[in-house]
Amino acid sequence: MVFFKHNFSKIQEINSRKLIEKEIRLFMKRDDLLHPNISGNKWRKLKYNMLQLKQEQKTTLLTFGGAFSNHIAATAAAGSEFGVKTIGIIRGEKHSILNPTLQYATDCGMLLKYISRKAYKEKDSPIFQEQLRHTYGDIYILPEGGTNEHALLGCAEIIQEVAEQNDGGLPDYFCVSCGTGGTISGMITGLNNRSKVLGFSVLKGDFLKEEVNVLVHKKTSSNFINWQINTDYHCGGYAKFTPELIAFINQFKVKHHIALDPIYTGKMMLGIFDLIDKDYFAKGSSILAIHTGGLQGIAGFNQRFGNILK
Ligand SMILES: *Cc1c(COP(=O)(O)O)cnc(C)c1O
Repeated sequence: MVFFKHNFSKIQEINSRKLIEKEIRLFMKRDDLLHPNISGNKWRKLKYNMLQLKQEQKTTLLTFGGAFSNHIAATAAAGSEFGVKTIGIIRGEKHSILNPTLQYATDCGMLLKYISRKAYKEKDSPIFQEQLRHTYGDIYILPEGGTNEHALLGCAEIIQEVAEQNDGGLPDYFCVSCGTGGTISGMITGLNNRSKVLGFSVLKGDFLKEEVNVLVHKKTSSNFINWQINTDYHCGGYAKFTPELIAFINQFKVKHHIALDPIYTGKMMLGIFDLIDKDYFAKGSSILAIHTGGLQGIAGFNQRFGNILK
């Protein structure tokens, strides 16, 4: 069986007067187009985890996420595509009507179990994981967001792929949206101190830098100094938004025919354009932003907030 075979996701230039004026070239790598249902960085993170699961001869994958999680949707889709049973441990209460994300996961055959927010905080503890194994048997446990060492391997391939698409050359800057920090950590290891990586945190607070350090150092003893986490564009925190963000995403779609999601990629692109405005990037720089996907979340977002995303 062939796992996670794919064509390179295309790199697309973004054109605008602003970019010409500032002498910046901006590109997006369209990982949102890697797979119709296993979108963006979740595809990259699942790739080597699915291989590992097969190697360990397990047949069930258990993972964790919020009720609108892109990772839950992607994992459910991957399970159905590759014949792996999936269990999703969902943070919070069960609602009588499933939201579009959880409905989709259920349709893919994922078994959903709900736990309280308090219990969810303990999800990575050995005691809780032991209980899970006791309940569900010989499971492959994938952490929240799909982030572990195997995920880093898949995300490092973004860099290899870009180099191959670009005759070995790399842009001056890579930009990526950050939740758990798994994707940027993989990219950092793949870059091995070439170029610069700028991560845009979608969470309030300053803890992500430390998490990325831990993830990177689990993988390598090298020290990388070519990355930063920007914490200025979370728009109020995880899954929070501002009218400015919504207007930006809607305008971006009209202008460039690329949909952005309101949780991750929209905030990153808002941040990139604001930083360009503020002359953060030197004249003549090239920037490659990773479109990490997440578009499945738009339906649930619009359902909650009244179709504000076009
Ligand atoms: C999950 C997700 C991220 C965050 O990735 P991490 O590896 O957790 O930092 C970014 N963008 C999208 C669209 C996602 O779904």
